[in-house]
Amino acid sequence: MKHLESEGLREDIEKKWEFDIIPMLKRYIEIPNQSPLYDPNWEANGYMQEAVNLFRTWAEAQGIRGLTVEEMHLPGRTPVLLFEIPGTGDQRVLLYGHLDKQPEMQGWDADKGPWKAVLQDDKLYGRGGADDGYAMFAALSAILALQQAGKSHPTCFVLIEASEESGSNDLPAYLEQIQMKIGTPNQVICLDSGAGDFNAVWGTVSLRGVVGFEIDVRILKEGLHSGISGGVVPSWFDVVSQLWSRVVDPRSGRVRVPHLHVEIPDSIRSQIANTASVLGDSFYDMYPLVPGARTLGESVESAILARTWEPALTIVGIDGVPSCAKGGNVNLPQVTVKFSMRTPPTLSAETAGRVLKEVLEVDPPFGVEVKLRGLEGASGWVAPPMSAAFSEIIEQASQIAFDQPAQFVGEGASIPFMGMLGERFPKAQFLITGVLGPRTNAHGPNEFLPIPMVKKLTHALAIILHKLSTL
Ligand SMILES: [Zn+2]
Repeated sequence: MKHLESEGLREDIEKKWEFDIIPMLKRYIEIPNQSPLYDPNWEANGYMQEAVNLFRTWAEAQGIRGLTVEEMHLPGRTPVLLFEIPGTGDQRVLLYGHLDKQPEMQGWDADKGPWKAVLQDDKLYGRGGADDGYAMFAALSAILALQQAGKSHPTCFVLIEASEESGSNDLPAYLEQIQMKIGTPNQVICLDSGAGDFNAVWGTVSLRGVVGFEIDVRILKEGLHSGISGGVVPSWFDVVSQLWSRVVDPRSGRVRVPHLHVEIPDSIRSQIANTASVLGDSFYDMYPLVPGARTLGESVESAILARTWEPALTIVGIDGVPSCAKGGNVNLPQVTVKFSMRTPPTLSAETAGRVLKEVLEVDPPFGVEVKLRGLEGASGWVAPPMSAAFSEIIEQASQIAFDQPAQFVGEGASIPFMGMLGERFPKAQFLITGVLGPRTNAHGPNEFLPIPMVKKLTHALAIILHKLSTL
């Protein structure tokens, strides 16, 4: 692709974003279509279908040559949109994104909110714009831009699902039907991942898994005056903190159970050392720590290693503990604590769950009742080695669109669908990329879509697709 032509392509894509896609994403942000895990009444509420309709109507109005759309509905399951765009060459490319959203979360700036689209400083704020509403628009507008520029693209399938934030639990039921339609893709491009900064195509080479569970702690048959029980009856907090310390060293914040760690390959360690030198201390920009607060670990390198290849435990909810306003002088009889653990890419969720159950339930502190339940998980994922041709294409695309080399690093989060796809298409090449750079805050307050980056990523995507059609 000649430089001048790529400039024309860049301009077309920038205009498309400014005048068409951003207004659509604003409308999308205003639909509170939370994933089924957070909105069990999603079907009756109808928001998910509203989002599907918005996506589909936009896609069908673009005049993309050869586009066909299939809207799949299985009873009781969130829908799936599958777009097919026939192209030239032998390669079949599957592009992936999702349209379901995380819940609100607290802490949004006063002028922003999850279901309110706010465009400020080249950032589009609101839930789901960056995670992951932009994906379909980026994929289809890249293809459209190529068609309008008279450039070839391969046969593309764009798969948009609606249960990703619930662990993609509805997707397996559709996989047969999807596979019948798409056959075996040569490349899978997932547009739902993170980026170390806003200045390159970032490829995710591994994902951590996630294991969630709840622990019921029962100490007393009923709550008791702390003046009577204090010093005699164990406190729920003693029990929970002892359980916590079995898994985590509270001084270092590191998981101390050897069986929850894996051997980290040397190739990964050197890749991480490289990323650490590219990012330097800017790596920490994504963490909004209060003044004086320190991060865990002693270097950027150890932090990236910990975030991508080591387990980490957190408590995400507690039942049975009153708010401060309601708390009286009482020893609480029982609590339920909800835990979430990120697991190393190569540790299966089953193994992690089994180890955690053993460690937490055996010999309970003070002999109280400790029961672990609701164990659920998704294993992590490691990308298969990338072919020289595909990595060269990604490198060129990053150079043209971002003027910077492509970067590859592991991601600390999970995309359960990647594991499913990897099993189903073991020969496919994967590019897992996205716009979730520092502070974009998917899942948290003030989530935003970085507009300049998403335009560049769409441009890079167009270049990648064009070059794949000539393989
Ligand atoms: Zn996502």
